[in-house]
Amino acid sequence: MISVVEAISTILDATPVLGASRLPLAEVLGCVAAEDVTSSRAVPGADNSAMDGFAVHASDVATAPARLRIVGTVPAGSLLGERIAKGTAVKIFTGGVVPDGADTVVRVEDTETADGVVTVRVPIKAGANVRPRGEDIAPGQVVLARGTLIGPADLGVLASIGVGTVLAHRRPRVAIVSTGAELVEIDQTPGPAQVVNSNAYVLAAAVARAGGTPTVLPIARDRFEDIRARFEEAMANADVVLSTGGVSVGEFDFVKEALDAVGVKRLFWRVAQKPGKPLTFGRLGERLLYGLPGNPVSALVCFEVYVWPALRKLAGHRAIHQPVVRARLAAPVKKATNLTEFVRVRLAREGDGWVAVAGAAQGSGILSSLAAGAGLLVGPAAVTQLDAGSVYPVIVLDGTTFATEIPQFSS
Ligand code: AMP
Ligand code: MG
Repeated sequence: MISVVEAISTILDATPVLGASRLPLAEVLGCVAAEDVTSSRAVPGADNSAMDGFAVHASDVATAPARLRIVGTVPAGSLLGERIAKGTAVKIFTGGVVPDGADTVVRVEDTETADGVVTVRVPIKAGANVRPRGEDIAPGQVVLARGTLIGPADLGVLASIGVGTVLAHRRPRVAIVSTGAELVEIDQTPGPAQVVNSNAYVLAAAVARAGGTPTVLPIARDRFEDIRARFEEAMANADVVLSTGGVSVGEFDFVKEALDAVGVKRLFWRVAQKPGKPLTFGRLGERLLYGLPGNPVSALVCFEVYVWPALRKLAGHRAIHQPVVRARLAAPVKKATNLTEFVRVRLAREGDGWVAVAGAAQGSGILSSLAAGAGLLVGPAAVTQLDAGSVYPVIVLDGTTFATEIPQFSS
């Protein structure tokens, strides 16, 4: 039996980084760029107005009041064909291209207009209210660096320079294999000895949220041949295979043997932890295979601790670990001796720190204690009790620290 930290590092050492493919912008949110993207354009493409007002010569408006003849109009999207002469002004709107000859924009609020003449009431600084060509992006500038996480603003920058595709690390393809003679599909009414295959839903959602692409395979019964065949099928199109169930020491637990039979090099079985002790993991070529426990809580906890960082590494991320905060435990919790225990908690703010409240029901069958907003407090293996008031690390799962109140910004 190995420790939690040994298991995580064994997995990450075995995890490759996936290759890249050229993808349309609509598919790369949250992916990692695998190339530098250099702009061939300037953005904006021409000097343009930041305000509704009048485009003028700076020297005409250095002192106030100034009276200028209005010689034309440039709405956004049009160009004034001619150069404007000194002593004249052109009506301009936000985004309108500043005409040749002009270099400054006077806000409409600083003017009065009568009989085709604009009066500028206050002196205006040269270059005021003009967004210069290339102020956002200059030609030749690297707008997206290889290795960066692609967010909404990056998509906007790429779109603004007319780049519609990016070379990005692939999303990991993850096959989900549920094993168990007792499992039925969601649309069947379970008999007294049956349970609905809920793990497939949990894992498909967890994979998607981690940035992977899940595929759920049909349920495998507790027969060596069924499970072996399902693993073959799963590996055909996946970077990662997640099975659930059948990984303990029971007479009907064939997952380990089936993994061995398809040629997987298994790197460990059993981790000194609760829940999730029977976890096994191996590699075949570039593929990662996890035998997760069947118990729904164990399966999800193992996903968060062992699958999540591997999916992030596969996808080319540099920051691959879930955030951990240190939190004060509100009330004592008994724990298993010699096993690292993942205690399901809720986090609440306490001054500048966090307080962790353990759910009353920590049973390994209680999946609701892992509902959105939960965190995993990591209780060290050596101790038999986690003390009230002591501080422990808590793995912050997605959404754990979202706030219910409007933040109190000073405005
Ligand atoms: P196992 O690891 O196969 O011994 O299963 C442990 C427990 O988890 C049993 O109570 C199973 O019924 C339950 N279980 C196994 N697989 C699933 C699944 N796919 N969905 C929901 N519960 C499951
Ligand atoms: Mg089973």
